[in-house]
Amino acid sequence: MRLTIIGCSGSFPGPDSPASCYLVEADGFRLLLDLGNGALGALQRHAGLYDIDAVCLSHLHADHCLDLCSYCVARIYAPGGARPRIPVYGPAGTAQRMDQAFGLHEHHGMTDAFDFVTLTPGTRQIGPLGVTLATMSHPVETFGFRLEHAGRAVAYSADTGPTGALAELARGADLLLCEASFADEPGLPEGLHLTARQAGEYATGGAVGQLVLTHLVPWNDREQSLREAASAYTGPLSLAASGRVVDLS
Ligand SMILES: [Zn+2]
Ligand SMILES: [Zn+2]
Repeated sequence: MRLTIIGCSGSFPGPDSPASCYLVEADGFRLLLDLGNGALGALQRHAGLYDIDAVCLSHLHADHCLDLCSYCVARIYAPGGARPRIPVYGPAGTAQRMDQAFGLHEHHGMTDAFDFVTLTPGTRQIGPLGVTLATMSHPVETFGFRLEHAGRAVAYSADTGPTGALAELARGADLLLCEASFADEPGLPEGLHLTARQAGEYATGGAVGQLVLTHLVPWNDREQSLREAASAYTGPLSLAASGRVVDLS
């Protein structure tokens, strides 16, 4: 299993990264985890436009799903004719929401490009990947992921406040890709996002192989995020960066 970080900027694109998008490859299968704003551009440095086999959307906030509109255009109007539909997994209502974002169109809609599948908590197979989904703590329905292949496991928090469901996903994972949106300070809202220190606590609790901090909001101090996470986790720790590849094979 190979993970390529396409976009890791939290809540909106930053100067050096699109919003959330991760390319997961296994046995030649290519899955996109989230497709936030700006990600379709950077994706083309790492995969052909039409080499994607499936897309999973953790939730329907713009920074995790909006470039599906751009990808719809790229698939429908491809030179030589529309490309075959690929599955898009997302929370209930994904097709309708993405259709609204795409806008009224004379001839085509989202379902011409994508076969929408509604996600529910539990385990399912997507291509060669075993995928476990759990509901995170966020203002809209949001799924965290655990992807397993050939004895390796990657856990992805998506967007979440503290929740035992993330601890379950992360347990014994080789890699925890965990959001760290908030700087550690008093009075943070509940059920929204994690601090880097909390990401470190989940990494320690799950005894994960390594922790990668992601969903890095442009106005935060990244060195401070690393220090906060390191105060709670002594294992291998790093920041996500657009274009970074983590090979777990
Ligand atoms: Zn987000
Ligand atoms: Zn969100």
